[in-house]
Amino acid sequence: MQPVARTTSSRRASWPMRQVAAPRVPCRFQYSLASWHWKVTPMNWTIRIELTPDGNPPITYDIGTITRPIADLSPEQIGLTLEEGQQLLRRVQVQMISSQAHAYALCRRPCVDCGRPKRIKDARTKCVQTVFGAFRFRGRRYRACGCRDHPDEFLQDFPLGEIIPRRTTPEVRYLFAELGARMPYRAASRVLKICGFGDMRASHMAIRRHTVAIGRELEAQRLDAADGQAVQVPETAKSLVVGIDDTYVKHREHLVARQFQVTAGRIERNGKLGARFVFVSSNPGWTDSSFDGFLLQQGMKRNTVMRVVTDGDDGLRNFVQRSSPRPMESQLDWFHIGMRLELLRKAVVIPVTYQEYLEDPHAFDPAQRRISRLRDALWRGRSWQALLQFAWLRGDIDRWAAEHPGRCAQSVQRAKQVIKEFRYYVCGNRRSLPDFAKQRAAGQRISTAHVESVMNHLVNHRLSKKQQMRWSPEGAHYLLQVRAELLNGTLTDAYRVANPRFRGPSGFAAQSVH
Ligand SMILES: [Zn+2]
Repeated sequence: MQPVARTTSSRRASWPMRQVAAPRVPCRFQYSLASWHWKVTPMNWTIRIELTPDGNPPITYDIGTITRPIADLSPEQIGLTLEEGQQLLRRVQVQMISSQAHAYALCRRPCVDCGRPKRIKDARTKCVQTVFGAFRFRGRRYRACGCRDHPDEFLQDFPLGEIIPRRTTPEVRYLFAELGARMPYRAASRVLKICGFGDMRASHMAIRRHTVAIGRELEAQRLDAADGQAVQVPETAKSLVVGIDDTYVKHREHLVARQFQVTAGRIERNGKLGARFVFVSSNPGWTDSSFDGFLLQQGMKRNTVMRVVTDGDDGLRNFVQRSSPRPMESQLDWFHIGMRLELLRKAVVIPVTYQEYLEDPHAFDPAQRRISRLRDALWRGRSWQALLQFAWLRGDIDRWAAEHPGRCAQSVQRAKQVIKEFRYYVCGNRRSLPDFAKQRAAGQRISTAHVESVMNHLVNHRLSKKQQMRWSPEGAHYLLQVRAELLNGTLTDAYRVANPRFRGPSGFAAQSVH
């Protein structure tokens, strides 16, 4: 039973663990260990908590006793088990809440006007769901004092209902929302049960309900920001680059629609990657001012230089433009051009027989060289050169088809189609085609690959297309609001707007723990 003094290696020293010396063993205990009965006597720990009301002698409550054998010990019996720990915490929780509720009810008894104690009306039960389980408490209801006569006032007050306004504590609501945003609701419910929170009544529907409710709160904050009533006023941003894209998610009621659109993206603020945003515009509660609110939260002011990077979708471009106070520059992103170039490179190689390949292995090299020149033209933002290259490429394909009549008609047709579509794309977006080479040299972001990764992390991983999940636009929208804040690392701050003391400095953390 002596403390083990060991030289700690550097790896072990990095563990976040304090070395605790074993307590000095009293003589009587040593004597009993030496005698026969250590084999039968177990070790007992009794846990008591002491409440010290202000200026009064302490009151002690017994929490529980833990028993372990001394010599006949197995690895399962070292320390507290998860279940024991949870039970002890449940009992501590009950004692704490009931003392708090009792003391608060006593404070609320005297009338604020005349100081006389109010009469007791009756006692009512209140349920509360905490992180260590759901409990019921009884609390008194007081009749209103007769010293003044206000017909508008309540005739009774219920102090317990004031300190626990909702059935769920803010801590539990946050826990549900964070887990619900990270993993499927059913998986979150299961994780809570495995971790010993079985008494918490964490059904998948409860987790969904709280996640959606917090999503609504986050959106309400954004609408407040759009109305100029933001709680936290951000610093003014010199430049904002909005990378935006959209994807589709399966609709829950497939008779209404097969799928619905989810728009997501990421802001680049003063040259640094910033917050993600996401919304479902077909959600019934959606208004354009939610996005205004988001941009205002990011520090958009009248003098902010705005730019939008899209894959050439006019709808998204106009959508962002509507929220901007002044005309904004829009540009194509290189990521989507690169994908189209790759598609074109494959399409212009017409499949030939092996014999033909042996005769002329370099038959399609001119076409490939033309695509390289097309890439250069697009990279330097010279749309007219690119359009010329398209015309020549089309000529090459026509010539090959004329030389090989009736051969690979489908592939030729497809190559022509790909060229035509790409040509329309460049033609339609030629005003948004920037000089990528110059921008790259200036250290600016030219691709929206980061937006694609936002799509993957934010939307696809949670709304999981692979698992055949189906969503209602509303449920998906509010869940994604929580998930976006979670990935931005601002969920706690946003939650603190409605619950100012949430995870603030508690009495426990402020003092060192002995
Ligand atoms: Zn009174």
